[in-house]
Amino acid sequence: MPNEEEFLKLSGLTSFNPVQQESIKAGILIGENLVVSAPTASGKTLIAELAMLRCVLEEKKKTVYIVPLRALASEKYEAFKEKYEKLGIKIAISVGDYDSSDSWLEKYDVIILTSEKFDSLLRRDISWISSIGLVVADEIHIIGDQNRGPTMEILLTKLKRLTKAQFLALSATIKNAREIADWLDAKVVESDYRPVKLYEGVYAEGKIAFYGKESIAIDGTELPEIKIVHDTAKKNKQSLVFVATRKSAEATAERIANYMADKISNADAMELKKTSEEILHALEYPTRQCERLAKCVAGGIAFHHAGLLGKQRKLIENAFKANLIKAIVATPTLAMGVNLPAYRVLIRDAKRYYALTGYSYIPVLDYQQMTGRAGRPQYDTHGEAILIAKTFEEAEDLAERYIMGETEEIYSKLASEPVLRVHILALIATETCNSLQSVYDFFSRTFYGLQYGSSSELAEKIDSIVDFLKGNRFVEQNRDKLRATTIGKRVSELYIDPDTAVKIIEGLKNSKDAKTDSSALIELLTTSLEMRPHLNVRQGEFKEIYAKISSAELLHEMPDEWDYDYEESLKSFKTALMVCDWANEATEEQILEIYNLTPGELHNKISIMDWLFYSAQEIAILSGAKDIIKDLRKTRVRVVYGIKEELLPLVKLRDIGRFRARKLFNAGFKTVEQLREAPEITLAALIGPNVAKSVKKQLSGKEDEKNFEAKGLFEFARRDN
Ligand code: ADP
Repeated sequence: MPNEEEFLKLSGLTSFNPVQQESIKAGILIGENLVVSAPTASGKTLIAELAMLRCVLEEKKKTVYIVPLRALASEKYEAFKEKYEKLGIKIAISVGDYDSSDSWLEKYDVIILTSEKFDSLLRRDISWISSIGLVVADEIHIIGDQNRGPTMEILLTKLKRLTKAQFLALSATIKNAREIADWLDAKVVESDYRPVKLYEGVYAEGKIAFYGKESIAIDGTELPEIKIVHDTAKKNKQSLVFVATRKSAEATAERIANYMADKISNADAMELKKTSEEILHALEYPTRQCERLAKCVAGGIAFHHAGLLGKQRKLIENAFKANLIKAIVATPTLAMGVNLPAYRVLIRDAKRYYALTGYSYIPVLDYQQMTGRAGRPQYDTHGEAILIAKTFEEAEDLAERYIMGETEEIYSKLASEPVLRVHILALIATETCNSLQSVYDFFSRTFYGLQYGSSSELAEKIDSIVDFLKGNRFVEQNRDKLRATTIGKRVSELYIDPDTAVKIIEGLKNSKDAKTDSSALIELLTTSLEMRPHLNVRQGEFKEIYAKISSAELLHEMPDEWDYDYEESLKSFKTALMVCDWANEATEEQILEIYNLTPGELHNKISIMDWLFYSAQEIAILSGAKDIIKDLRKTRVRVVYGIKEELLPLVKLRDIGRFRARKLFNAGFKTVEQLREAPEITLAALIGPNVAKSVKKQLSGKEDEKNFEAKGLFEFARRDN
């Protein structure tokens, strides 16, 4: 293992900072379990790296590094690979495909995974579990998040049971870090250390009032975010502007870009033009969002949210790091997902919409995640975080809430029913639990158990879920022993909600009596929880959708108008209409326009449909609904590629997606045979010389048909176009 000096040199550093020193003092290098709670960008990753090197090089064991987001996994993977592969450490990343045991991981020393992926691996026998010497849980405060928290919590509870590994949990500043430490039998290191000094302030009526330094007057009549971004750019610095929604991120970026476009240097404008072109042509046909983004970027401003394509996101991040883009307007996901510091962080919207509480203030924890990005360590002596208020009164209110305020405690979100359903089946299927009592015991060891004790409310929920699993034959009971059935095991491995599996099984049964067309299968699968959030139905659309439902052939019963899930079923039906349009070759542009979607959202929904179709095929095999498998397979390919049935033979070829297949078909090339006989030059005129050559080559060999059983079908299809 490298000594301290060598280790720091690998990272281009000269000394450990206070948080790192404290973690060493607390025993991170002698195997102590630790919860480190410190601000964003305080250097927590390096603590994990220290522990990781000791684990791999000295203990000769594996490190698993768990993150809550895919984007974070790739970032860590690239950084670790660059730094540590030269020491002979083998680094792997595993994020996709939840129906695989990825046995190749066995050969690696450091494995970076999302919590969902790791949880799915634990549903199979993974041979290397006993060789884990260190578990790193990054961003562990995510446990308080309704959507992503429960899986991280269950995963850590399982790993505590299954391994003797050292645990290191990294958290943003939270009030109850000690409670998490108690749960993980760990010591706690708490710190408010920041590498770059942060000044926090509130803008109101032409002035930024800072705490701890003088106020600044900001002239002009434009909107505050425009004036402040301009003021920052004049200092040759950059800003991050956080707003509540994707829509307002786009609109705000446009407004700032319009104002800034004639204020950037010629040299920057030329470079930005190149990036803008690349963004515009990220897809074969630019969508409206691509056009808007490209236009903003040409003016030195970008918007950034989860609806962008990965490729565009990367381009923006790089152009920002190169100081070409002067400001990014983003939704709060950026604050957690990407390490993109800037001199100024503006929080334009301190309120946002929450499903449970409606329109309300963001937590202090989120505020701090955003302000944590203020100040670039190598370039700035300090960073600035600025809340934007409309009035002095609001300014005072915001300052008190956020600048003076303490971060909240985090609470386990484990007790929601869908979460429990998924995890209880997995616990029984993997034989982690084999009786009702052992399920209770497992949950008493979770963070939820620590926070709420063994509540009778939870016990009741567990009982009713076990009954549901038994009622649907996913679980069997023999005396007090619980065991998963073959189909129960498979559902758990497929990583879908047992309730979705029930819907599939029942729907497939109904399909025996009806003629199953693709739209009925699509509609069945969109009713699942996995496809939520479903598309919104506007008031004016109710009638039209209702009429379509009445004339549709459905594989399940629709709730009545007075049932409480009626509205959700309309939304789900509208989502199905969208997927059907896609599979009937509506253009991407049309879909985005009609259904008010972003390209990222469309791709995300299609990729989930891909998984649901795959799961439905697997379930059909086991539940004896064999006749339907062919229909499922066909529809899956149609949905993934966005093609009508007549194009199915053509997309079997590599490099042929929806556009090229349509061109070939319309020119009379409808089968592989016809393509085989066609002169290459004729094909080249239709699909370009390179693809024509590739098609000819594929047809000359034996390997002329792609295997539609490929699990990563979606990824495959996207690569082709
Ligand atoms: P966190 O995980 O706490 O959000 P990171 O680990 O991403 O923060 O670190 C933020 C930045 O600080 C990185 O660019 C990292 O290289 C840098 N950094 C980490 N430790 C030190 C150190 N001891 N001295 C100087 N810079 C450091």
